[in-house]
Amino acid sequence: MPVSENQGFNTRAVHAGQAFEPRTGAVVPPLHFSSTYAQDGIGGLRDGYEYGRGGNPTRDALQEQLAALEGGTHAFSFSSGLAAEDSLIRALTRPGDHIVLGNDAYGGTYRLINGVLGDWGIGNTPVDMADLDAVAQVVRANKTRFVWVETPSNPLMRITDIEALAKVAHDAGALLVVDNTFASPYLQTPLALGADVVVHSTTKYIGGHSDVVGGALVVKDAELAEKIGFVQFAVGAVSGPMDAFLTTRGLKTLGVRMDRHSFNGQAVAEWLLERPEVEAVFYPGLPTHPGHELAKKQMKGFGGMVSVQFKGGEAAARTVAENTSVFTLAESLGGIESLMNYPSEMTHASVKGTELAVPVNLIRLSCGIEDIEDLIADLEHSFTFLR
Ligand SMILES: *Cc1c(COP(=O)(O)O)cnc(C)c1O
Repeated sequence: MPVSENQGFNTRAVHAGQAFEPRTGAVVPPLHFSSTYAQDGIGGLRDGYEYGRGGNPTRDALQEQLAALEGGTHAFSFSSGLAAEDSLIRALTRPGDHIVLGNDAYGGTYRLINGVLGDWGIGNTPVDMADLDAVAQVVRANKTRFVWVETPSNPLMRITDIEALAKVAHDAGALLVVDNTFASPYLQTPLALGADVVVHSTTKYIGGHSDVVGGALVVKDAELAEKIGFVQFAVGAVSGPMDAFLTTRGLKTLGVRMDRHSFNGQAVAEWLLERPEVEAVFYPGLPTHPGHELAKKQMKGFGGMVSVQFKGGEAAARTVAENTSVFTLAESLGGIESLMNYPSEMTHASVKGTELAVPVNLIRLSCGIEDIEDLIADLEHSFTFLR
């Protein structure tokens, strides 16, 4: 069934790129592993398919689904979120260009931009994305190509006004890149708010089951799409067919999963807020969160990510992180199972000692889709070790 923009999110999620197979009527399109395609005479390509790096029907199905859900015209699927980011930067920047990014950007993104691409002549300045005047100043003072934001950010859950930031970027002739990994297209569609490029680690909510690593870029402009498509093909960090299939399979249920993640995230955040051991809770669904009103305006829900700081400092954070059983101590997020992360030594170890460092008394929870009573009981039990 071809989908239209007017259809609801879940209808598009289930059907975009998923037309049944015409020969057999198989409702789930077949998974194509072939690395190459027979030609009808030299250059006689069937439907444009020539070689697996350049095109694969299973990957194309995922790309169509991603574009339909983000409200873009083109989507590109990669072997990881960072491979997507690397391809984006290679496609659209040149030596001497500058990237202005949030000062609480995902550690791996900062490592790529600063630690790898810095040597190739790409400059960067981390800034507080909540202070739009400061952002505008830094953007204008450099040859800024990208303003790069994560909202909600990782792990402090800061909310940035995408529409206002797009204006800041565009006024300076820069592009706005939004890493939409935390919100997912179910909760937030940055292209509709003026962003030029959406980045995803599809490893997280989009794949949703912690069983596949992948990344994606989505745009709404043909010229940007052409440049990104060229690098995707020429560099070749594409997702393999099985990865693309698993990602598509996960993406079909994104809406129902996000509703449950958001429900559990809200309940966990509210429970934490009442605990005497807790110093601060970071969750945009809490009225006490500084970005709450903006999040209500710009998002359709608040998601399953909650960060918490402990009065007992580093020792307390480590104790809770190491004493849960429903929450598994592991990096990553966005899967159906709840995960617990100690960013300072785990996901954000690469930014330790830099201005992007994460407080040592903070843990980050990825609330899965388990029953809320069991999540709370698990946290309650881990808190008994604090006494
Ligand atoms: C995980 C993550 C990435 C990197 O994606 P990979 O799939 O691990 O390469 C980028 N941005 C955010 C916000 C992430 O959480």
